[in-house]
Amino acid sequence: MRILVVEDEVLIAESIKTALQDAGFVPEVVSDGNTAWFQGGTEDYAAAVLDIGLPQLDGLSVLRHWRQEKVNMPVMLLTAKGSWSERVDGIDAGADDYLVKPFHMEELIARLRALVRRSGFERTPQMEAKGLILDTRKMKVSVDGAPVKVTPLEFRLLNYLLHNRGRVISQEELATNIYFQDQEPDSNAIEVLVGRLRRKLKAKIIETRRGFGYLIDVDEPV
Ligand code: CA
Repeated sequence: MRILVVEDEVLIAESIKTALQDAGFVPEVVSDGNTAWFQGGTEDYAAAVLDIGLPQLDGLSVLRHWRQEKVNMPVMLLTAKGSWSERVDGIDAGADDYLVKPFHMEELIARLRALVRRSGFERTPQMEAKGLILDTRKMKVSVDGAPVKVTPLEFRLLNYLLHNRGRVISQEELATNIYFQDQEPDSNAIEVLVGRLRRKLKAKIIETRRGFGYLIDVDEPV
């Protein structure tokens, strides 16, 4: 799941990036307002973390542009300490949440998970379909109650498919959302990955739609 991180302070940007990667997200970092405006308007992200003080174009203007252009991904603003008017302006401009600097990475991750959750089906940190349960907080996976050990990459794939359950996802979309920017996957990487996961999950949880992609279907209502 890709997260756009807009932060011009290199050290903060790096630590957000690492924390997001460790939490199973795929962060993409940009460091100025114009690039942020462009990226947010042309690429799909599950959410954005947006600093207010940015070169070229400030974060509030970026946010206003996005909302005018119907870019409706959840946005978490990073605001300066003590600046309550900034926070009010941010919420008026269409921010979904904000964090005051300096903040704890754990809090950023928890709030970001909640934002992403609200944009999908989930109301809790657990996602479930076809007997598969994925706990985004503990980063654990189980099938019919039995724990399954997965790699971080496998976790990101399951997370993305489950978050989008009921929808067929192309290999290309999957690759964009589970590999980090500096990773260049082989052309058959997704197929191999899904094959490996299927053996681990021991159930027909991940379905193939030949020529279209993969899907974890929603459970039939009981
Ligand atoms: Ca800044």
